[in-house]
Amino acid sequence: MVSMSELLTTKNQVCAAIDAGRDAIVEIGEAIMDAPELGFKEYRSADRVKKFLSDVGLEYEDGLAVTGVKAVLRGGQPGPTVALMGELDALQVPDHPRADPETGAAHACGHNAQIAGMLGAAMGLVRSGVADRLAGNVVFLAVPAEEYVEIGYRLQLVKQGKTSFLTGKQELIQRGDFDDIDMAVMIHSTSPDVSDGSMGLAPSSNGFLAKNIRFIGKASHAGACPERGINALNAAQLALSAINAQRETFRDEDCVRVHPIITKGGDLVNIIPAEVCLETYVRAKTADAVLDAAHKVDRALKGAAIALGCQVEVETVPGNLPLRNDPRLAELFRSNAATLFSDDEYRDYPHSGGSTDAGDLSQIMPVLHPVMTGARGVHHQADWHIADMDAGYVAPAKTLAMMAVDLLGNAAQQARRVLSEHKPVMSKDEYLSRQHAVFQTQTFDGRS
Ligand SMILES: [Zn+2]
Ligand SMILES: [Zn+2]
Repeated sequence: MVSMSELLTTKNQVCAAIDAGRDAIVEIGEAIMDAPELGFKEYRSADRVKKFLSDVGLEYEDGLAVTGVKAVLRGGQPGPTVALMGELDALQVPDHPRADPETGAAHACGHNAQIAGMLGAAMGLVRSGVADRLAGNVVFLAVPAEEYVEIGYRLQLVKQGKTSFLTGKQELIQRGDFDDIDMAVMIHSTSPDVSDGSMGLAPSSNGFLAKNIRFIGKASHAGACPERGINALNAAQLALSAINAQRETFRDEDCVRVHPIITKGGDLVNIIPAEVCLETYVRAKTADAVLDAAHKVDRALKGAAIALGCQVEVETVPGNLPLRNDPRLAELFRSNAATLFSDDEYRDYPHSGGSTDAGDLSQIMPVLHPVMTGARGVHHQADWHIADMDAGYVAPAKTLAMMAVDLLGNAAQQARRVLSEHKPVMSKDEYLSRQHAVFQTQTFDGRS
């Protein structure tokens, strides 16, 4: 049995090792900021991760879900495995001052700080030599492709058999890279321009699926003989009205968000539109509410096709499942982060309408996805950057490392408690079959 003061001594030793490596942690955070790459293309970023892990003395597996990297620090006793995660990918924000001039990629969501924090935690836990005191393993995981972007490119990867899903954690779950992991923690950056307080947590966030929709009508001269055409744009407009008419059936507590756009409205102005394309996400707080709203969207699309006598093709693609943050992990986050900031700086945020693929993982194991300050600007905008190196890069490293010590120190009592009190929503197999079942392309013929 280990006393609280011994755990505190261990955490102090880990934090001292992180302080000693501060410059290297800041350096890799800034280096990745200056070399942003989009999801499933993060080769240079992965190379930097591998070099850092090697310098620390950890072996790794690489090429996981294209670019992912995984290293394991083994504790002195057997016990649960805790993953500390960082995301590798950037976004496309071409007017960001530190964007890649060729691809327009920019780290406008702070994922570079997640990688620095995860690697800093690895450095602290290894170099302090405390692993012998842990009961269980710590996995350091650099995860590709969290942002749900370049959908066409990623669907090509799926069709070529290079991936099975469109985001990194989904793909790692499918590949079995989480099979030896019992719980996972990551820290997302935030900024005083976005959220109050220095650190905090929303209990949950929305899940979603995506739809590519194509109404297929019939072209005809729009002036001379419109009666011989079938107007796909009118069908699409009717579909948008029918989708809007569903909104009063969405329950407030489900936080449903359906936000379609028209991506193609026709070909030429003097031709009755024969092909009109829409895209939409369907988001909600629970997986069942996503499916219910998606069913209503499909019904609206079919109804519009019947009304105009045209066809509609609906390609449905799995997005993220809703995030459920584990309350026991949340307590450990708060108590450790409070030693770096102050407990007054902690905030409980409301349920978020946004989405992350940490949500997928949270359906099958305990997961924590809190936020910590250090950036300035607004997520996904050109002004976003890490402004405070210690809060943005070093504090997440210390918090992650201290959480690992709390979880696996003292014979892993805390980690075992997290596991015993956690009820997964579904098994990995149920997760995979549920998400695979979302992939569908259906053509509905309303011409009869
Ligand atoms: Zn983002
Ligand atoms: Zn992000």
